[in-house]
Amino acid sequence: MVEQVVAEVNELPHEEKLLQLRKVGPVERLKPEERRGLPELPDVEKYPMVITRFAPNPNGPLHLGHIRAALLSHEYARRYKGKFILRFEDTNPENALLEMYELIRRDLRWLGMSWDEEHAQSDRLELYYNYAEQLLREGKAYVCTCPIEDFRELRDRGEPCPCRELSSGEQLQRWRRMLAGGVAKGEAVVRVKTNLNHPNPAVRDWPALRVTAKPHPRMEERYSVWPLYNFSVSIDDHEMGVTHIIRGKEHEVNEQRQRTLFEHLGWKYPTAVQYGRLNMAGMALSKTQTMQGIRDGELTGYDDVRLGTIAALRRRGFVPEAIKQLILDIGPTLVDSSLSWETLYAYNRKFSDERADRYFFVQNPVKVLVHKTPDLKQVRLRLHPGHPEHGERILPLAREGDALVFYLAGEDTTVLQEGQIFRLKDLMNVTLSSKGKVLEAEFQGLELADVPKIQWVSAGAVEVEVIKPDNSREFGLAEPAVAGLKVDTILQFERYGFVRVDAVRPKLVAAYAHR
Ligand code: GLU
Repeated sequence: MVEQVVAEVNELPHEEKLLQLRKVGPVERLKPEERRGLPELPDVEKYPMVITRFAPNPNGPLHLGHIRAALLSHEYARRYKGKFILRFEDTNPENALLEMYELIRRDLRWLGMSWDEEHAQSDRLELYYNYAEQLLREGKAYVCTCPIEDFRELRDRGEPCPCRELSSGEQLQRWRRMLAGGVAKGEAVVRVKTNLNHPNPAVRDWPALRVTAKPHPRMEERYSVWPLYNFSVSIDDHEMGVTHIIRGKEHEVNEQRQRTLFEHLGWKYPTAVQYGRLNMAGMALSKTQTMQGIRDGELTGYDDVRLGTIAALRRRGFVPEAIKQLILDIGPTLVDSSLSWETLYAYNRKFSDERADRYFFVQNPVKVLVHKTPDLKQVRLRLHPGHPEHGERILPLAREGDALVFYLAGEDTTVLQEGQIFRLKDLMNVTLSSKGKVLEAEFQGLELADVPKIQWVSAGAVEVEVIKPDNSREFGLAEPAVAGLKVDTILQFERYGFVRVDAVRPKLVAAYAHR
């Protein structure tokens, strides 16, 4: 049992460990330099310069899982004053999407990344064709026209298919026929020859190029023969001088395939750094499901707040530095890690708390009349308790007869009892005298007291709609100062949560991050 618990705890990111520890007792903090920082990359001294790449397939929006490769590759390139390449691996016309290229760039820039080179593999087909032809000529690849079941049966037994045995002249003829459009989708693939007894049948004579039917979003109908991932990734990693490939261990079998091609071409395989799985409990991350949901209209878009995409996190007002720090803290460890929303919130809270200005918002407002108050017209409060330089906000007070008028959050009023003293936050203490449809209360004093503090609004309150993480809506009133806020502002509705202004017209809409 102890072993199991220790393993579970070790999977937690640093902040989450602290969070849990604090529940047990006081935590002595390690000095920052002792706990932060990525491990050194291996083999750095073997290369004149460190070159890394992030190679996304533009077939869907980036989420937390993807950006681990991006952030680590970028961070290492910068640490060693090397080069970072962005390469779109868009050789599947069936799923590449035009709008994804820019969304991916935007996500990366938002996370603070810059790249020294950008490539799209769909621009590089001639290069892949040249290598394919070379391999066919040299007998290191062949054009296979066998039905896939027949091929698999032979492969699993470690036997060659008839196509493998044909002369290189015949292979080149078949290849030219493929290029000339004389072969339909599924009728022929170029396979790279490997050891037919490779312990993993999936590595044996793996497919490298194939015929597709759909036009490519960038290249349209210009090409119908497209390389598969393992082929183009190998050629590009070599051609672009990539020294360190940082990728998830789910690519292990792919890497074995790629190494066979490097051997055929007499190239040296880059240094590979693998990291373990990132288990993200309760996060909707599947690209296929996301795309399906958008097509069906069940999701509002790539930034639907229910998703774990970078676009959705941005929309909810997460701070990019928080996401970056979390992912870098997890680092490139080979053991699997787990990441929960709670951990992400804990990281983000540290950054948002420092930056976000405070405002009052009351959900499902309930009216309160406070009698016997001093003659107050308005109150000025700091925008940020710790940062006077952020300035102040003014909350005008409404009056009805002899009483001041306030609105409190419905949920707050349900727990109040007649006779109870509470504080209208940052303003005054009052005693609740009656709890009818409208609450009546009496002024007690201005000085801070040890009583429940409740946020409020009064004159000029603004209607606000809040989009919650499950895409449900909450409604309420916010203090008048929010009317001047711009879209994208991140703020805290006190005692309610951090939000980002999502729209200001026709009414203020805020997307909710967390408490
Ligand atoms: N395009 C690949 C992916 O999206 C790159 C993986 C790699 O070779 O590191 O997973």
